[in-house]
Amino acid sequence: MTATVLGIAEGRALGGSLRVVVTRPRALTAARAAVEEVVAAIDVAASRFREDSELSRLNASPDRVVKVGPLLARAIEAALRGAELTEGAVDPTIGFAVRIAGYDRDFDSVPARGGPLRLVASRVPGWSAVRFSAATRTVVIPRGVELDLGATAKALASDMAAAAAARVIDGGGVLVSLGGDIAVAGEAPVGGWTIQASEDSGAELADAEETVSIASGGLATSGTTVRRWMRGEVTLHHIIDPATGLPVDSVWRTATVAAGSCVDANIASTAAIVMGERAPRWLRERGMAARLVDRDGVVHRLAGWPKAAESKLIPTIL
Ligand code: ADP
Ligand code: MG
Repeated sequence: MTATVLGIAEGRALGGSLRVVVTRPRALTAARAAVEEVVAAIDVAASRFREDSELSRLNASPDRVVKVGPLLARAIEAALRGAELTEGAVDPTIGFAVRIAGYDRDFDSVPARGGPLRLVASRVPGWSAVRFSAATRTVVIPRGVELDLGATAKALASDMAAAAAARVIDGGGVLVSLGGDIAVAGEAPVGGWTIQASEDSGAELADAEETVSIASGGLATSGTTVRRWMRGEVTLHHIIDPATGLPVDSVWRTATVAAGSCVDANIASTAAIVMGERAPRWLRERGMAARLVDRDGVVHRLAGWPKAAESKLIPTIL
């Protein structure tokens, strides 16, 4: 068996790391350009950190019927689908809650420390308050609701970017990672795409680290150890429990899930953090291979996730 020679490009995108890997190194420039185009389009459509994004304009127009572009429509549709599938554990109406907890700008610019905050626990408005029609691409968000598509839009960007890159490189395979939200498309290398399971997407690749492989679909990681900050003596982080509107106090600090697409993997990984003790059952019932790291750093592998020493292929259902 000959190992495939891969072409790898790295950079930054959507407030996190970007990695593009292709099985035909000569196609790397074209693949990267296709990825960057999708990423730029998602940013303009769905970023909560740019005033000129379509999402910011939507959030500034409560109680009105707003027609959105195809890309924002897809991101909203995926976010609402995620909310439905997880019974509201993943909910795009956490926008206000995550903003007042301190995550109100691109993460690199969020101060690591600051004075104490007074946060009051209160259930988020809830996804069923959002009226959305895919047919007419219209949305109405009630006053007081701020949509945040941070969980879904990045994963959707990975899926779309991998598909777009696979089209331009015509025949080879591609892997796209946006801050650890990974999608693959086209023909995978022999044995699948080997992926290091780290808690931080910026971690160096190292032989001693645990790996898994996928040949299709996506793999997503959500966690509370990287995007965190302190206000007063309290550590806050970016995953909100919709029931309280506060950063969730989860039994899991990191969740990695494989699925038929990065969007689905990401719905499940964010949901796992929010669901806490209920997550293993929810994941097993859906046959979603997952690797959960608990508060103490103990790793739990379930629903077909391979043991640490075997970089086995996880079959993902498309
Ligand atoms: P990452 O962005 O590291 O991939 P996730 O996919 O879990 O992590 O997305 C977390 C982001 O989603 C947060 O930064 C925030 O913008 C948003 N978010 C936080 N809590 C929730 C939630 N309960 N449901 C939906 N989106 C959330
Ligand atoms: Mg994610």
